[in-house]
Parts: sequence; structure tokens; C-alpha cells
Amino acid sequence: MTVRVRFAPSPTGMFHVGGARSALQNWIYAKQQGGVFVLRIEDTDAARNKPEWTEGILSALDWIGIERGSYEGPYFQSSYAGEHRAAAQRLYDAGRAYYCDCTREAVQARTGSQYQGYDGFHRDKGLGPGEGRALRFRTPDEGETVVVDLIRGEPTFENKLIEDFVIARGDGSPVFLLANVVDDMTMGITHVIRAEEHLPNTPKQQLLWDALGVKPPIWAHVPVVVNEKRQKLSKRRDKVALEAYRDEGYLAAAMRNYLMLLGWAPSGDREIVPWSVIEEEFRLAEVNPSPAFFDEKKLRAFNGEYIRALPVEEFIAACQPWLTGTGTIAPPPWQPEEFDAAAFAAVAPLAQTRIAVLSEIVPNVDFLFVADPLIDEAAWAKAMKEGAAELLDAAIAAFDALDSWDAESLKSTLEAVGAERGLKLGKAQAPVRVAVTGRTVGLPLFESLEVLGRERALTRLRAARVRLV
Ligand code: GLU
Repeated sequence: MTVRVRFAPSPTGMFHVGGARSALQNWIYAKQQGGVFVLRIEDTDAARNKPEWTEGILSALDWIGIERGSYEGPYFQSSYAGEHRAAAQRLYDAGRAYYCDCTREAVQARTGSQYQGYDGFHRDKGLGPGEGRALRFRTPDEGETVVVDLIRGEPTFENKLIEDFVIARGDGSPVFLLANVVDDMTMGITHVIRAEEHLPNTPKQQLLWDALGVKPPIWAHVPVVVNEKRQKLSKRRDKVALEAYRDEGYLAAAMRNYLMLLGWAPSGDREIVPWSVIEEEFRLAEVNPSPAFFDEKKLRAFNGEYIRALPVEEFIAACQPWLTGTGTIAPPPWQPEEFDAAAFAAVAPLAQTRIAVLSEIVPNVDFLFVADPLIDEAAWAKAMKEGAAELLDAAIAAFDALDSWDAESLKSTLEAVGAERGLKLGKAQAPVRVAVTGRTVGLPLFESLEVLGRERALTRLRAARVRLV
């Protein structure tokens, strides 16, 4: 039997990091089993779906390493409406489903509770099809439904506690539960690896597989992803969109490594490992069923390590979208013609060791390309205290007299200027740094001054001095 797994997102919003995690787990499982990964877009909720979300899913998958053309699909659930309706009809014809026209209020009035499920009122009333009549599945009165789950063992559900659930609405349209099962059948899916949120649906869905006479798949419900307060990651509260991480400058390699650690770890106390190791060592059955904490701080640290591990040319190439403002990434504060690739290449190795996400490249190097430094007023106030004017005067004079404008000479010069005033180098640097870069923190100052060049550096120092008058 060939293993066939599927990833079945609904195109109703940005691509959730939890979805990316499930997609990767499916992808690796298929690869390990010599199986097939199927992409199915569950687009039947016409009111909430937008075509651009589908494109977003495809490009987010591409980015994370599940590339178009290397999997089966995408199939679109909406193209299988005929199959969904036929299955509903078969269940009705076989007596496994019946029509019901109870309103929610009527059920509540009878059961006395809005929490109790449907009470089976129409089970044996023989109501035929008709406008406004929902089709309900007749769940067995006895027995148990045992779900075989690679992560959770064998969750077991008593059938008598499962209500006669709706499989097609009053307008005849099949509901998600049924459509999802019929598609999995049509596509020959053998293993359903999906988010834990769907576990409550699983006994109902397995009953549908049984009633339709097809052997149910093996299930694997992967743990819910939570924030630091142990709340399920939500798009209203948390940063959940894979695209947001991509645009902030997370590397796909770091992201997918981190996502695979949600509920699982490679051997030997390692966390940062090559993708090939994950592909080899990952075991679905080893995934911890408890909620997995999505730790953004840890992800940032991870990303920093991945950035530092890049060959510098790759780092320079990876920065390009932020240096130019490509696609959904905001343009930098300089004009394209102000950018100087050689100057950037000169400071890139210094920046590479200091940033955790690629978007941070911009505030680190903007001083090289903008005409005037973008002065951060808080930084200015902090650096330009008592004695700053005198220090700048002395630094300007000493720098101006330098024969060679290089980092080492600049450093020893400022060291001497500071020492004359009883200042350590760190203190002496602050006004110079703010005058030249606009900020109190950034790349090493003397290398920055060297790359900026004598003329521009002195002009900025003089302008700052004038401002202090
Ligand atoms: N379309 C469903 C979702 O996005 C997927 C359900 C499933 O994987 O079975 O949550």
C-alpha cells in the first residue's frame, strides 16, 4: 500500500505557523514512507475564501520547502461537490441518514439545554427530502469508535454519546465533516496528519468512513500550538502568519527547523540541525501530544544562528529584499540610486554577526546611504550631554588631521581625544556615533566611519556640532 497523506488548508486567511508545521510533518512522513503528499485546498466556504489566500498558501509552502510541482495537486474541494452530494445520497439510500427539519430552538425546548446535542427526534419519522430539511447521520446506538492515532494511541468514543450530526444542510449542501471525508476517500488518503483541533470530529468522520464502506485512514493529531500564556495561538492576538515571519527576515531554513521542534526533538540534545537530519530522524509517533509552545524569542535566537552560519555572499544576497523593498517588504529609507553595493559589502560581515532577523539590516546600514543621518532624538539626548560639544570639536580637528582614514587610526585618535578629557573610549564614542549614524547602537563605529568616508563623516560631525551651539 502506498502511503498517501494530504495537507488540506482552508484559504481563509494568512498561512498559520501551526499549519506550516502540519504541512512539514505530512511532507516528511510521506518522504520517509516512500509515499505521496497531496495538497487539497478546502475552499467550500465561499463566504470566507479568497483566491489570493490560495496563492498565499502555495507561495508560503514554496518558501518553506514544499515546492509547487513536487507534490500532487493542488486539488480544490469545490470541484468535488458532485462526489459530496452523491455520498450524502448513498448514506440516505442505505438508511444511514435521515431528514430532519427541527430548528435549534425546537431541539433546545425539548432537551431543555442548549448544550445537549440533537435528540434524535426525526430518526424514525420517515421525513423525505425537501427544502429546509437537513440530512443527519444515524449514529450507532451501541458500541465504540476506536480511533487509531499514531500520536495519541487509541482514543475511544462511545457511540451513544455521539449525536446524530448533520451531514448536509437544509439547502442540500454537504457540510465540512462529510466533504473532508469524501475527498480523503476520493484521493486515496491513507494517513490523516492534522491539528489536534480536529480530534472531536474524528469519531464522527470515522463513522462516515465505515458507513460508506471504506477502511478509515490512520490518524495523527498533532499538538495545538500555544503562546507563552499557554493560549492557543490566535490570529487576533499573536503573530501567527508565516508570511509575517518571512517579511521580517526569518530564513526559511531556520523557520522549518524551529517548526519541527514543536513537540519533537532530534537525537543528542541538538536543536539546530540540518534538514537532512530532521528528515531522517523525525518520527511521527515520537511527537509529544501536549500543547507545543511557540517561543518567538527562541526562534529569533535560532534565526540569528542561521544568519551567522551563512557564507557572506549568501548573507548579502539574502538581505537584498530589505535593501530594495521587494514585494510586501517596506522600502528602505534611502533612494535606490543612493545605495552603494561596495559599501554594503564592506560592512556586511559586521552586520551579519549582529542581527537576528534580516529586516534589522536596514537600521544598521541606513547611515551609509541616506543623505543625512536619521537622528533618533532619544539617542541624541542621551549622547549629547555635558562636554559633548568640546569632545566633538576635538574629534573633528583630530580626524581632519589624519593622513590615513582607516578604522585603526580613527580608533587610536578618538582614544587619545577621550583620554585628554578623562573619558574611556566607550563614552567618547557616543556623541560621535550619534552624530554620524543617528543612533546609540549599531555596527562597530570605526569601521563604519572608514566606510562612510572622510568627507561625509566630517560633514556630519560638523553638522552635529552646529546643532549643539
Ligand atoms: N480545512 C481544515 C483546516 O484547515 C483541514 C481539516 C483536515 O486537515 O482534515 O483546518
